[in-house]
Amino acid sequence: MILGALEAGGTKMVCSVGDEQGHILDRAVMPTLTPDETLPGIAAYFGDKHIEALGIAGFGPLDLNPNSSTYGYITTTPKPGWQNCPLTPYLREALKVPALIDTDVGAAALAEFEMGAGKDVNNLIYVTVGTGVGGGVIVNGQLVHGLVHPEAGHIIVKPHPQDPNPEGFCPYHSSCLEGLAKGPTFDQRWGISSKALPQDHIGWVIEADYLAQFCANALTMLSTEMIVLGGGVMQQQFLFPMIRKRTLEILGGYVAHDKVLNHIDQIIVPPGLGVNSGVTGALLLAARALKG
Ligand code: ADP
Ligand code: ZN
Repeated sequence: MILGALEAGGTKMVCSVGDEQGHILDRAVMPTLTPDETLPGIAAYFGDKHIEALGIAGFGPLDLNPNSSTYGYITTTPKPGWQNCPLTPYLREALKVPALIDTDVGAAALAEFEMGAGKDVNNLIYVTVGTGVGGGVIVNGQLVHGLVHPEAGHIIVKPHPQDPNPEGFCPYHSSCLEGLAKGPTFDQRWGISSKALPQDHIGWVIEADYLAQFCANALTMLSTEMIVLGGGVMQQQFLFPMIRKRTLEILGGYVAHDKVLNHIDQIIVPPGLGVNSGVTGALLLAARALKG
């Protein structure tokens, strides 16, 4: 089965061809310009690849209601030109194949759940800490789509007492997780990128605290079994033990499950699929599109 996977990001479009086992056979990257400039390029790439279906892992917000007349549209994004963009219908029509879309993090959650770190759990959250912060949520084996889809990056967290920018950098909210913990906040707050900030800098203690607040909230709110932390910032592996320790401190022994108390390293984990969670998720969505 030859399937197409589109990772539609705010800065680049990654087009891949693969199969339902997540094997990737070909890939091309193009910049995200305006829809008029970019969508025909995506259609041209997939046009001669003989794909049977397309899965899209997209930046949002997205309309994911299958009964909506605007299913698969990008809706209210601040990204110029992309508001109300019919991404999914356009590609379905251009390629004449079934297509399904989810958020980039929803697709990654699906992939980690089915083929990655979360193969043995029923409840999982995938969080990316990169250019933004986002979360895809699986409850009882199903991706959560409620009114829209989870916007886990915008939960409100308590500013760290040593944070020089306690309001954070989200244009919509004061002290939301994304505004306080996304990768670019390192440059804004400390004048140095998260790639270069020394491991013993207070900035990492603050970052770990925000991500631990998220983990503690997820464990209390959803009783989630696994929190997969991915994205560029989480390449700094030393963050994992810092986040786990701080999560336990915040919980204060309250979620008294053996796995939380004694095996938190099995709950707060890196992606089992490495950097391929998103593309694998898009391939799985394509396989689902084919099954109808
Ligand atoms: P995107 O979110 O656009 O898909 P990334 O997940 O790579 O892309 O996120 C980009 C952000 O992650 C930037 O702020 C960058 O500084 C940070 N980042 C990327 N790689 C690393 C790394 N190895 N260590 C720390 N931060 C990183
Ligand atoms: Zn926000």
